[in-house]
This record gives sequence, C-alpha cells and structure tokens, in this order.
Amino acid sequence: MEITVALTGNPNAGKTTIFNALTGARQKVGNWPGVTVEKKEGSLVYRGHTIRIVDLPGIYSLTAYSIEEIIARDFILEDRPDVVVDVIDASNLERNLYLAVQLMELGRPLIFALNMIDVAKARGIIIDTELLSRLLGVPVVTTVGTKGLGLDELLETIVAVAEGRLKSRPVSINYGPEVEREIRALVEEIEKIPALREKYPPRWLAIKLLENDREILKKVSSIPGTEKVLEQLKRSETRLRELLDDTPEAIIAEARYGFIAGALREVVRVSPIDRRTLSDRIDDIVTHRFLGFPIFILAMYALFYLTFTLAAYPVAAIEYGVDLLARVLSARLPDGLLKELLIDGIIGGVGGVLVFLPNILLLFLGISIFEDTGYLARAAFIMDRVMHFLGLHGKSFIPLLMGFGCNVPAIMATRTLETKRDRILTILINPLMSCSARLPVYVLFAGAFFPGQESRVIFGIYALGIILAMLLGKLFSRVLIKEEDTPFVLELPPYRMPTLRSLLLHMWEKTKVYLQKMGGVILICSVILWALTAFPRVNGQAPPIEESYIGRLGQALAPVVEPLGFDWRLGVSLATGFVAKEVVVSSLGVLYQVKDDDVHSLRERLREAGLSRSTALAFMVFVLVYIPCIATVLAIWRETGALKWPAFCIAYELILAWVLAFIIYRLGLLLGF
Ligand code: GDP
Ligand code: MG
Repeated sequence: MEITVALTGNPNAGKTTIFNALTGARQKVGNWPGVTVEKKEGSLVYRGHTIRIVDLPGIYSLTAYSIEEIIARDFILEDRPDVVVDVIDASNLERNLYLAVQLMELGRPLIFALNMIDVAKARGIIIDTELLSRLLGVPVVTTVGTKGLGLDELLETIVAVAEGRLKSRPVSINYGPEVEREIRALVEEIEKIPALREKYPPRWLAIKLLENDREILKKVSSIPGTEKVLEQLKRSETRLRELLDDTPEAIIAEARYGFIAGALREVVRVSPIDRRTLSDRIDDIVTHRFLGFPIFILAMYALFYLTFTLAAYPVAAIEYGVDLLARVLSARLPDGLLKELLIDGIIGGVGGVLVFLPNILLLFLGISIFEDTGYLARAAFIMDRVMHFLGLHGKSFIPLLMGFGCNVPAIMATRTLETKRDRILTILINPLMSCSARLPVYVLFAGAFFPGQESRVIFGIYALGIILAMLLGKLFSRVLIKEEDTPFVLELPPYRMPTLRSLLLHMWEKTKVYLQKMGGVILICSVILWALTAFPRVNGQAPPIEESYIGRLGQALAPVVEPLGFDWRLGVSLATGFVAKEVVVSSLGVLYQVKDDDVHSLRERLREAGLSRSTALAFMVFVLVYIPCIATVLAIWRETGALKWPAFCIAYELILAWVLAFIIYRLGLLLGF
C-alpha cells in the first residue's frame, strides 16, 4: 500500500529535520504550482509500505492570510493525504496547539508528533502525552528530530493509522451555545449541496465561513446553488454580532485559546525551578531598550563583514581561476566567433555568477545562523517600529539591508517574510538600496567632478536611495498593494544552539536554488548581450562598440537622455548597465577610448568631454535609481511569480530616474554648476 503523509506544523518546529531524518536522500524539491513556495517531497519504504512524505510550509494558523496557509490547507483538503502529521514544538506547546486544534477540524487522519521533547524536559516541562492523546482524540508520539528519537514509533503510528488499526477521532471544540447554533444552521444548508458536502468537512466549512475566510467565501460563491448557504451566513453573522457584541472571528479564536489553555492545565506540569528560562534572560539584554540597538548593529556588521570582507579571498581565487581559463583558451583557440562566444559570452557570464558564489554562500550561512538560533526574530523585533513607518514589518529590514551588498540575494531573502504583500513591497523598493556594483560609478564621477568632496557626495547618493525607498514604500503600500496589512504578533521563539549539520544544510538549500535558477538564465542572457556587442561583424571582427547593436541602441536612445545633459556615450553606458551596473564604468572606458582601465585618465576624458558638474550629479542619481540589473529583474520575476512586478519595477525606476536626473540637471544649470 502506498501511504501519503503530509508533514505540517509551525515554522521551526522541526518538520524539515524530521523529514530529512525519515527520507534521507530520497527527496524531490520543487515549487507549489503557481507560487514560489518551496515544495519538498520524499519517500521511504517501511514494513512493505511505500510512504510518501510531503513537507508542507511552516504555518501558525489555517486562516487564509498567507500563501503558505492556503497551500497547507488546500493540500490537506484536496489531495487528501492518508495521514497528516502535525509536528509540534513541545517546548512551546501553547502556541503550537493553535494550529493543532485547527488541523483537528479538517477531518483527515491526524497524528501529533511532540518534537523537541528534549528541550521541553530541559526546561522542566512535563507533558502527560497519554492524557493529551485521550483529551484530543489524536494519537501522540514524542520525538527528538535532531537525534532521530521516536521516529520508528512515528512510522509505526503512521502505518497503524493508515491501515485503520489506530483511529484518530479528533474531538471538536465547543464554540459556545450561540456560535454552535449558527454552525448547526450552516451545516444543515451545506449538507444539502453535494458539491460542498463532498469537498469540505461541513463543520469546518461552516466555521471558516463564520470566520469570514476570504478564500473559502470565494470558493463557495463560485459554486452554483450556494445562495442559501450565503444567506444563512448573513443571518448568522448579524445574529452573532447582536448577541455577542464582537465579530464571530474573534469569538472563535477566543474559544480556541480557551480550549488550549484548558487542555494545557490538564496535561502539562512545569517544575517550579527555573521558570525564567535562559532565553528570557538573553532577551532581557538583546531586546533591551538601549542595549538592543547597538547589539543589533554589531550583529549586522558581523554579517556584512562575513559576507563582503571574508569572501574577498575566495572571490579573488575564483576571479583568478576564471581569468586563467579565459587566457588559456584565448591562447589556444583560433580567433573567431567561437572563441569570442566562449570567452566573452559564456566564461564572462557564468564567471560573473561564480564570482558572487562565496558572498552568497557566506551570506546564507550568516542568515542561517541568525535564523536557526532565533536571533532573526529579535532583529525584526528591534527594527519593527522603524519599519512600520514604511508600511512594513521589522522582518523586511534584513532584505533591505542586504540590498546594499547585492539586490539578488536580498530579494531572495524576502522569503523569510510572512505575507505576500510584505514580500512584494520589500522587493519593489529593494533596488533603491544602492548595491555595491554601483559604487564604482559614483567613485569615478565624484572623483572627476567633486574632488575633495567625494565622500560627502557618495554618502548623499546612498542617503537619497534610502529616502526614496521610504517614500515609495509608503506610497506603494497605500495605493498599489491595497491588501490590508495583516496584524500579527512578532513571536520570540526560544534561542537554540543550531547544529552544524542543519546550518550547512540550510545554507546549501538556499545556495542550490540560486545556482540552479540564476545560473541557467544568466548564461542565456549573457550570450544574448554578448551577441549584441559582437554584431554586426566588421570584416569578421567584433565591431567598435558604437557600431554594435548595443551601441546603436544607445545612440537611438540619445534623444531620450539629451534633456538630462548626457551625451550618446553616457547613454550607451547606461544601456550596457542593464547587464550589471559595474559594466557602466568599463563601457565608459571603451567609449571614451581610455587605454588600460585607468581611472585617472578616464576622469580626465570625462572632464575634457565638457560634462558639467550638474550632468555628473544627474548621471550618478540616474545610475542609483534606474532599471535594476538583469539578475535583479530575474530575481524579482522569480520571487514574485508574476511578470508584472519586474515590469512595474523597470517602469517606475526608469521614469523616476529620468525625472530626478532632469530636475537635478536643470536645477544645477540654474544654480550655475
Ligand atoms: P522547520 O522549519 O519546522 O522545518 O524546522 P527545522 O527542521 O528547520 O528545525 C528548526 C531547528 O530546530 C533546527 O536548528 C533543528 O536542528 C532544530 N531541531 C529540530 N528538532 C529538534 C529536536 O527535537 N530537539 C532539538 N533540541 N532541536 C531540534
Ligand atoms: Mg522547514
């Protein structure tokens, strides 16, 4: 018999640890259809059964507030796994049970795995699992995922439940006489409609409707013949509001908490010693009103140091290797298209991805450490108030900060955000964080036109980026993404010492995605861009850049950038900057015909070309704001799952860049720069 098992539970309850321990290397990683939430599947053979396990996304509740929640409940309701295993963090029973009691209503065979039972024990929390199982009507197994304890019993229980030898008969929560009366009335209407009855457990559906669950309302309304149900819902809502003076949602949530508190009082004993945990004591310092912030800055500094300074050594090694390969090939291969394609197109492009790899690996290692220890939650807590100003939550701070390094991993880091709304908002303003690739442009122009004031000018550009991000964040959250800001409690999960294995695994998982997806697309794009610079051929040779397709494009663009005081060469360099913003400087070198990449002579040439200081400022601001580079555009596309967002990003940034550069240039002229 094949048994399908859905693993569900709160984030960090240990689902993935258990999943890995059970399935080992037999895993398949993909995405859920239509969204960028990762889907993991694995299988194992146990007592002659093939057990297929699906690791559902971590969630706190089964409302329809996040994609993750919708994915989890749709999978359980529609794919009908034979067994649902809810991984519960036993050291945090109260919070974890909030999901558990909702799973009990879904009507699928259920097992509770009380994981982290070691942590619970260490804190003096004693759980009467047998009583818990009896009270809730659900089989309970205790596990320690990291040590593989209890997994055999878990498998035994899964098989027993799947074979029907062991029954899970979840009790139903009593929502009080008034709510229960309305649930009954709704269930009665629901049962009259086969399309509903067969698809959803009627009681669950009734509760969801009363909770005003948008997804479910949409689904029910789309089924013909459900008018009676919706009419009953209206009546029920009105009656409850009158009777109880509160929304049905709130009353239902309250009843659940009450149920949990009651259950806990029965099954949990906490030894009186040491109720104030080590976590609490660390939090006293780390989230302290005055100390919290400096500690946080230090932690961020450490993250950046790790990512950008330490990585410089392996980066240099990879650069050297790529360079060596290019030189060897260049010496061995006959001149011609193939050689150019290999060296300039493929090695140049893929090498460009490879060079970032140490940064990415270390960045992801750092984030995994923050995540796994629980510090990330504190960082979000500390920055929360500042971020609310932008219409965002504290968690968005990390991706924005990372944007100063490189927007691509920064955009990938938005995966830690809870809601799609926050994710999109954070992604949209991320390119305004001036990434390190733009710095060479500022250094070049500030040095040429503002000698002695470079650092002030460059700081001003960075600050402008931040201010723009704040203003646009506020604007977008008001007009663009109207979806309301879902309130949620910023949880402070207990600190935990991560194992090296899990750190490396988490780091590798993130890196793998980066390599697989970015690698392929970057290869294709760099070949295309190479072709634009290598054609049309002149006597079988690559053309001078102004005659190449990209050069012609730039010249065609010249009228567009003329009002900003830019000449066609600046226009072309901006066009090439779409590949990567570092390229702007190297194309300027080619366009202004400077020998051997010498910054000083390039500065000289720029001044000789008659560019003014206001042009220089306008150009720097343009580079700050315009078009994200191609890797960023692709990252935005992938992470948002819709082409409209990268398109919007390109559009707003081009327009904003143009308008700002125009204002700065004209203002500069007026002020006599
Ligand atoms: P998920 O997000 O729910 O999949 O949780 P993970 O499997 O990623 O686990 C989160 C963290 O808890 C990791 O650092 C694990 O090593 C750790 N962990 C998982 N299970 C246990 C356990 O039973 N005991 C202890 N002490 N740590 C655990
Ligand atoms: Mg996980």
